[in-house]
Amino acid sequence: MAIIQELSPHLADLIAAGEVVERPASVAKELVENAIDAGATRITVEIENGGVTYLRIADNGCGMSAEDAPVAFRRHATSKLRTEADLSAIGTLGFRGEALAAISSVSRIDLFTRQPDAISGLHLHLTAGTADISEEAGCPQGTTIVVRDLFFNTPARMKFLKKDFTEAGYILGVVQHAALSHPEISFTLIRDGKQVFTTDGKGKLLVPVFAVFGKEMTENMLPVPQTEHNGMSVSGYIVKPHAGRPNRAMQHFFVNGRYVKSKLMQAALEEAYRNAIITGKYPSGAVFLELPLGAVDVNVHPAKTEVKFSQEKAVFEAVYIACKNALAAGDNTPQLIHKTKEAAPVPRCEDHVTGQQQRFAMQRPIEPSVQAETLQGKSAAPELEDFLVAVPPRTPRPQHAGFVAAQPAIPYQPPRNAGPMQADPVLMQKMKQHNMPAPAAAESKAVSAEPTQAAPTLEPLDTGARVIGECFQTYLIAEDQDGLILIDKHAAHERILFNKLRAESEIPSQELLSPVIVELTAEQSAALTEQMETLRQAGFIVDSFGENSFAVRSVPAYLDSGDVSNVLSELAEKAMNSRAAVPDRLDDLIHTVACKAAIKAGKSTTLIELQDLCDRVLSDENVRSCPHGRPTTVRLTKYELDKLFKRVNQ
Ligand code: ADP
Ligand code: MG
Repeated sequence: MAIIQELSPHLADLIAAGEVVERPASVAKELVENAIDAGATRITVEIENGGVTYLRIADNGCGMSAEDAPVAFRRHATSKLRTEADLSAIGTLGFRGEALAAISSVSRIDLFTRQPDAISGLHLHLTAGTADISEEAGCPQGTTIVVRDLFFNTPARMKFLKKDFTEAGYILGVVQHAALSHPEISFTLIRDGKQVFTTDGKGKLLVPVFAVFGKEMTENMLPVPQTEHNGMSVSGYIVKPHAGRPNRAMQHFFVNGRYVKSKLMQAALEEAYRNAIITGKYPSGAVFLELPLGAVDVNVHPAKTEVKFSQEKAVFEAVYIACKNALAAGDNTPQLIHKTKEAAPVPRCEDHVTGQQQRFAMQRPIEPSVQAETLQGKSAAPELEDFLVAVPPRTPRPQHAGFVAAQPAIPYQPPRNAGPMQADPVLMQKMKQHNMPAPAAAESKAVSAEPTQAAPTLEPLDTGARVIGECFQTYLIAEDQDGLILIDKHAAHERILFNKLRAESEIPSQELLSPVIVELTAEQSAALTEQMETLRQAGFIVDSFGENSFAVRSVPAYLDSGDVSNVLSELAEKAMNSRAAVPDRLDDLIHTVACKAAIKAGKSTTLIELQDLCDRVLSDENVRSCPHGRPTTVRLTKYELDKLFKRVNQ
């Protein structure tokens, strides 16, 4: 007797259903996709008990004829695919013809559907995939599907469901993704009788972005203007580097209107933030990629959230360049703004500093006019309409019109010693401009014998900011017509040096008068020996000098010979722990050099040097954060100061 038998269609359906319908959210996803494919402009999702006992999806799309509707529940029945050739250019969200069959085989379903020109519609009821009611019905145009008692006939699957709240969270995710990819469709999610999510369907991407990311995150986002590259187009919204998040939960990627999980796009997005985001933080945002249908295969997994690109490198580049340009064009400076709290006590003298610290928080840069309005009248959560004005899509500034691989850095003469700085005619001119007396001691100092290569090329930079001084020997204090500016001396200088070193094709090296001998541990020494080429590229000339000892003969031009020993052991330590690719290792190396060569916090700096640093920072968009992503500059507007001192009404 034959022991191999074909499975009954019902059993085959149940097995196949397992792939498509994992949980209520997968049902919601498939039905929302069907509604989108049906050309709906309004889609409502209603759930009870996390969608397990009740899940209703109503759309105003094209509906189905009484003839078609029962066929839709058969396996491999679809209106979206006809021939094999269609498979290589799929423009609809669905195409496998599996969802309705799978869902209906594990639940009880009511379907109401009416086509626009039909007088009446159809009501179908199915239990575990078998239609037991089919009748004419008066119903609105479009399709409404109610799914009850999911997995009632597959208790094993039921056991794997999580708490209702968690399942509802997954469904919210599905609706959010759909809303982000279709701003022209109005979405509503009702959970246990309460509306928890809605978008207006008027076509503005910022509306679903606001609804998904919330007010605070959206305030810290930059638009990615539509960017064409390699025959693809990328757009979206991404977060400013200082507002990175501890995980990737808020990264959403879309390909041709479909939400996808893409390691490739994730890598491209994160690469665009390299050296701008704090280590351990991740960018967030919604990034949309449009490319020819034939260049992407969506038929990789039944859930259709995984895609295969035929040209991965081109996709990576397109996403990277669009995001990188968006970051370069946006104003990434965080601002200090005064948090308006109704009952905020007036700061007393003795708690002045702590009082201030408590009341300030790093927040978004708001357009001045909007900021004033928000702070004056409407301290409560602004309406979305206000917000649409507050974050206008920025047109890229001219100097950032296109991304160039090596960022041009403004040549900067690091203030390593007082000599060259005072000899610099530009600085003298600037001193006069700001009525700054040159310090007597400085004038009498001899000019350093060291060549001042960069000095003659320095352009006078009039940023309109005047340095007032510094505090804690760490923060530079300046003012301009908009208010007070605070700059972290070390972080800013480190960033300037970092940018400069990175832009150099060959990092300038200076020979030490006598080599510095550095002793390392055996592991450090082995790791460093492997890195000799990278070290050379970064401007070091290092020779082996006996067991685990090295003679450093030349160092990058900005490094002080006193720092050499420390820098080398730090580099060896990093080399031991790093598995990064070679260019990243060079970046790490440059970080270390820039950090060591930068003005140290805790050391006082002359007013002239401070002024120069201040102008360099304010005139260079690429110095808004240190190489580790910490901000270099914060602002406090005059209005906020006036508010602090109660010179203006709250
Ligand atoms: P697929 O979406 O892969 O084609 P489904 O099982 O999800 O497979 O749906 C089967 C067919 O039922 C679709 O091809 C479509 O013709 C029809 N259909 C499903 N949902 C809707 C809807 N909301 N409005 C109109 N037609 C629908
Ligand atoms: Mg479908």
